[in-house]
Amino acid sequence: MKKVAEKVRVRIAPSPTGYMHIGLARTALFNYLFAKRHGGVFVLRIEDTDVERSTKEFDADILDALSWLGMVWDEGPMKDGSLKGEYGPYRQSERTDMYEKYIRQLLDESKAYRCFCTKEELEAQRAYFSSQGLPPKYAGTCASLSTDETAERVAKGVPSVIRFRTPAKTVKFHDLIRGDVSFDTGLFGDMVIAKDERTPLYNFAVVVDDALMHISHIIRGEDHLSNTPKQILMYETLGFSVPVYAHIPLILGVDRSKLSKRHGAQAVTEYRREGYLPEAIVNFMALLGWNPGTEQELFSLDELCHIFDIERVSPSGAAFSVQKLEWFNAQYLKRLSVTELAQRCEPYLIVAGLVPAHGADMAFLENVIALERERIKKMSDIVELADFFFRSPSYNPELLIWK
Ligand code: GLU
Repeated sequence: MKKVAEKVRVRIAPSPTGYMHIGLARTALFNYLFAKRHGGVFVLRIEDTDVERSTKEFDADILDALSWLGMVWDEGPMKDGSLKGEYGPYRQSERTDMYEKYIRQLLDESKAYRCFCTKEELEAQRAYFSSQGLPPKYAGTCASLSTDETAERVAKGVPSVIRFRTPAKTVKFHDLIRGDVSFDTGLFGDMVIAKDERTPLYNFAVVVDDALMHISHIIRGEDHLSNTPKQILMYETLGFSVPVYAHIPLILGVDRSKLSKRHGAQAVTEYRREGYLPEAIVNFMALLGWNPGTEQELFSLDELCHIFDIERVSPSGAAFSVQKLEWFNAQYLKRLSVTELAQRCEPYLIVAGLVPAHGADMAFLENVIALERERIKKMSDIVELADFFFRSPSYNPELLIWK
């Protein structure tokens, strides 16, 4: 493994627009392991600028799921409402002043400009480029408006957005997983970086945040690969040093299509509810794309922190199999004593109404568990497996009447 010289600071930057899913949890895990392996810092930042889709419930779910999985973050919002770390606030909605400062700087230096093109004009431009077989980028109509002209339109209240003056060049970077990558900026043209001074878009806000939080390595899903050159341009223009990138492969279903519920993928909280153990989920996720280079399959989080090597993550998609997850869970459940497993299974039986709310006869339940434990893949399975032991036999007495 190559030496990682500088102080490692990594982050996950989830948007609280849904429950934490397995893809985000795995990105978090790889970041966490990388930080631990290199004595670094793992930061949690909440990208909650999409006010319509972001909710407090999803925000809290991210914090809960991370804690449950054992990935304690070193900086970020805490569950008690406090903040930990010196580069906060750690929610984008509270960082507007910082974005505004840099957007104004770009406008003042004419590295960004106001664009007044209407939706219809932009659509017509796109249609024209597509018809010519060219990438559908912005034609640059407002790029040469004079300061006076711009000021006049603003004064008249003409709606506008802020575009970055994209320099024509090839952006090159070395990805720790994918090797050398290069993009020609001519493909994307002058991009919109903000709706106005206080409303930045993702590619701009993420750079300001990552730079001000001194993030050294960006480990994220491959779906962001095409955003990376845009972000590198932003780093360069704002005079920040560019971090190191590692784009991890997407998680696919066993049929190699995009992972969905159909493949058994669900939110972490849902797995928790069904009776999966966090140790099993962590172990399962670690092997989604990463390969330890040995035959070993069972790893504790602590062990992973010592051996995880980002350069052993494969660039090709990792297949999610619910059977494999169940297998890991069964391995970890087997490590529990009968007494422990009985205690953990009891709430499922209570919810199912098979044992009274005040609790089960534990001696009896332990006997049941001892008989069934080989078949338990997740704790909720106990309901179906043990149903028989808790119901008094019922039958239709008429069936017994000999006619
Ligand atoms: N909020 C973005 C996402 O959830 C963050 C992407 C990134 O890591 O830069 O996809």
